[in-house]
Amino acid sequence: MAKTSYAEVAVPLHVFQTFTYRLSAEQSIEAKRGARLIVPLGRTVVTAYIVDVLDELPQSLSETDIKDAQALVDIDPVCNPEILELARWVADYYACPLGEVIKAALPPGMSPKKSGAAFAKPKLRRFVRLRQPLELNDEKLGDAQRRAISTLENNGSMALQTLLITASVSAATITSLEKKAIVEISVEAVRRDPLSDGLGITSEVHTLTVPQASVLTQMEQQMNSGAYSAFLLHGVTGSGKTEIYMRAMSKALSLGRSAMMLVPEIALTPVFSRRLRARFGDQVAIFHSSLQKGERFDEWTRVKNGDARVVIGTRSAVFAPVKNLGLIVVDEEHESSYRQQESPYYNARDVAIVRAQKESATVVLGSATPSLESFHNASKSKYTLVNLPERIGARPMATAKIIDMRTVFERHGKPRVFSDELLEAIRDTLERGEQSIILLNRRGYSSFILCRSCGETVQCPNCDVTLTYHRSERVIVCHYCNHREAVLRGCPSCRKKYIYYVGEGTEQLEEMLRLLFPSLRVARIDRDTTARRKVFEQSLADFSAGKIDTLVGTQMLAKGHDFPNVTLVGVVSVDVGLALPDFRAAERTFQLITQVAGRAGRGDRPGRVLIQTYHPYHYALRHACAQDYEAFYEEELRYRQNHSYPPFVALASLLIHGPDLGRVRSDSLELRKQLDAANQERKCRVLGPAPAPLSRLKGEHRFQLLIKSRSRKHLREVADAALKKAADGGMNLRTVNLEIDPVSIM
Ligand code: ADP
Ligand code: ZN
Repeated sequence: MAKTSYAEVAVPLHVFQTFTYRLSAEQSIEAKRGARLIVPLGRTVVTAYIVDVLDELPQSLSETDIKDAQALVDIDPVCNPEILELARWVADYYACPLGEVIKAALPPGMSPKKSGAAFAKPKLRRFVRLRQPLELNDEKLGDAQRRAISTLENNGSMALQTLLITASVSAATITSLEKKAIVEISVEAVRRDPLSDGLGITSEVHTLTVPQASVLTQMEQQMNSGAYSAFLLHGVTGSGKTEIYMRAMSKALSLGRSAMMLVPEIALTPVFSRRLRARFGDQVAIFHSSLQKGERFDEWTRVKNGDARVVIGTRSAVFAPVKNLGLIVVDEEHESSYRQQESPYYNARDVAIVRAQKESATVVLGSATPSLESFHNASKSKYTLVNLPERIGARPMATAKIIDMRTVFERHGKPRVFSDELLEAIRDTLERGEQSIILLNRRGYSSFILCRSCGETVQCPNCDVTLTYHRSERVIVCHYCNHREAVLRGCPSCRKKYIYYVGEGTEQLEEMLRLLFPSLRVARIDRDTTARRKVFEQSLADFSAGKIDTLVGTQMLAKGHDFPNVTLVGVVSVDVGLALPDFRAAERTFQLITQVAGRAGRGDRPGRVLIQTYHPYHYALRHACAQDYEAFYEEELRYRQNHSYPPFVALASLLIHGPDLGRVRSDSLELRKQLDAANQERKCRVLGPAPAPLSRLKGEHRFQLLIKSRSRKHLREVADAALKKAADGGMNLRTVNLEIDPVSIM
């Protein structure tokens, strides 16, 4: 006799508890963990995930407490046991709701919010083929019908649309052939392939250099053992890390296992994933957020079915349902984009390590500028450190030089955007037929707008930031909430006309360079231009083909691209980055300059890097120019130790946000009180509340508390206890973001 079971489900919302529903007899037979279940929740209906199937109702619940599930979506669970377990770890470690994690682990469109909305699903096409054996003898066939038949005879099975065009017949012709049982029509899933336009790229297989071979051998030995192992590959830019990644991936495949590679930026994937496709063929699946929903669903399905055994993707690809995972590569492991900036706040690099542990795989973290945490872990032998200290072909590293903008200011009596030295270098590079990259971490035309009559700056109405002038679109824009206004005719406060655009953005640099060097061919790359993927890829392609002399852009230009003819990189200013109120400001700046220096001189000619700054003696700049990672690491480590920052303490931040300032402030104070109450033994240090560095964002006020502790366990106990007390006292925890190991505290 069929017995009724119960499903414990997690919902894809910011809700920490799980819920229990009654299953029908039929659902009870088919329901499995990891499958989706449509359930009533409050006044709505949601697509939930089954996290457990129970034969009996837990004692804490009675039959009258619970509702019936509406429908079971999957017979074959969307979330396999490994991914479900990984999701549980993430939810637990990062203190975020399990349902949110599962949702983030699946391709988009799997858990529609509105009931009745469409789920992501395979793309279906009708296919036509001839029935065998063909008996046409006594049939009267028209011309069109005969054309369709002979086309099918030549081509075998064909997509209906293709058949109609090729044979130039109408759909009615095919329908009549179907009625006569001459053809058969079937519905099949077709694959939406995001890389189909990259076919034909070839991938050279290099003979490894001696250092490369030594690194690879160490990895292969560990992989042969079939047990968990972790490597930190510290290799200068251009040292051939990518070739190591690909060889290690081949090794995983040859051991019958799968491989995964995480990359930080969408911008890096098109070129690279096509190279992977060239090397590994159809086994490659690509996961990133700029793919269309359908493409993502298909790639995910190919992985799930075991058709694709190599995955490349950004952050969320760490949850790809690959079978028998043998290797995870995390390229540019120090990148902050591995951390998700909304709930669930997870760091894909750290999830990758845990996943490798759980699945007895090898994990390779690679970088020219490892994060302080990873290098520290390597120095404590948690990871095996392997080095590639030299560039391939013994190409020299670019020389980096600091330009002291204080003296430039003294000489000219006013601030200048470009020092003479940088201008000279740009001219020089142009005359030699070589290319340059000019960086500035600021989009738009100006950084803020000032009235020279009354001193008013123009602020975003929703955020605590000034608006930026975008000249080409003739608008002023907030870079945080995208609030847009028409260009001002006068000061909004005193109405006078002395509106002045202060500071320069990428757009203005581009314009200045055009004016200064009329023959210079300039293009700009930043988030404004990359919004259009095609324009962005085209600019990169033109630059690569030598049709552009100078690329102006934000830091996204600093990474990954390999342009052999670039011999000059100019950084217009690093000072904004250095001054950020964040304990990682120095580390970020060091990484940026090192990455940038890696862009210059990738070919046969040496490169140079010029960095303009008002802080020429800052240690991050000095060590970056000397290309001395270890010296920087030592000095930065001392700073972290003296000020009790990671990796010496575990850190958590609590951000309280909401539209009502009074409420945000009082909630923050209440949380502080609860944290102190939970921290009687003083095992944690609590800081704040204070207004967050961005004190208002998208119409919401923001206050921040920081918790530090030498013991991660105590930190969590204190935070969890305080949050629970606050919730019991009526605080709405949806207005509190708890971030464990935040990568940025801004
Ligand atoms: P990284 O990722 O460390 O910055 P890349 O993998 O991009 O470095 O390698 C730099 C350049 O050297 C690339 O053009 C790559 O094709 C080339 N390369 C890598 N390994 C070899 C090798 N063993 N022999 C010759 N060229 C190589
Ligand atoms: Zn805004």
